[in-house]
Amino acid sequence: MVFPEAQDLTADDRNEASSPKTHIVKASHGYAFEVKKGKHFRIVDLYGEQVVDFAAWVSRTNLIQKLSMSYSRYHLSGVQPAVGECLWTNTDEPMLRVVDDTVKVHDMTFMSCNPEFYQKKGAPKHHRSCATNIAEVMKDYGMGSYLEVTDPFNIFQNTPNYSLKPLGSSKPGDYIEFEALMDCVCAASCCPYVSQPEHA
Ligand SMILES: [Zn+2]
Repeated sequence: MVFPEAQDLTADDRNEASSPKTHIVKASHGYAFEVKKGKHFRIVDLYGEQVVDFAAWVSRTNLIQKLSMSYSRYHLSGVQPAVGECLWTNTDEPMLRVVDDTVKVHDMTFMSCNPEFYQKKGAPKHHRSCATNIAEVMKDYGMGSYLEVTDPFNIFQNTPNYSLKPLGSSKPGDYIEFEALMDCVCAASCCPYVSQPEHA
């Protein structure tokens, strides 16, 4: 998974050619990054069929204002944002606009996998999870527990009609690109769930 981050240009280098920053997220781990209003970022599936749990918070709101799947579902009248449509905050404002999408199959209905989820499945005690991955990388922004992680936008997860289906949706190099409509802090997790084909 690659994140060509927002180009954070100063006034001095704004006119210079600059390639996007890229961060490769380690398998089964998370990554947090800040994006300024008006900047773009892209989440790329390097190898195909990798679900990415994504969450975001409005900067400087102490993690109170955040990306909301229920508001997004309401505004989209469904669970699939099209290019040009937005994901919304829990204060009913458009937060991120989808500006490009080579997959168009994502999920905004399921929770992040979490310690209890794996515990009930009999997984090893310290199995990594998206909720703890996101909490781990959001610690520097004030997050104290994985229970504070908001419902995610599950990028590349195939859940049409609210039922998980085999992925087959994202191929190596596929991506979704957003424009930030406000300053925000984003977090993403390479989902470590591998026991079913939905999350290769
Ligand atoms: Zn997960």
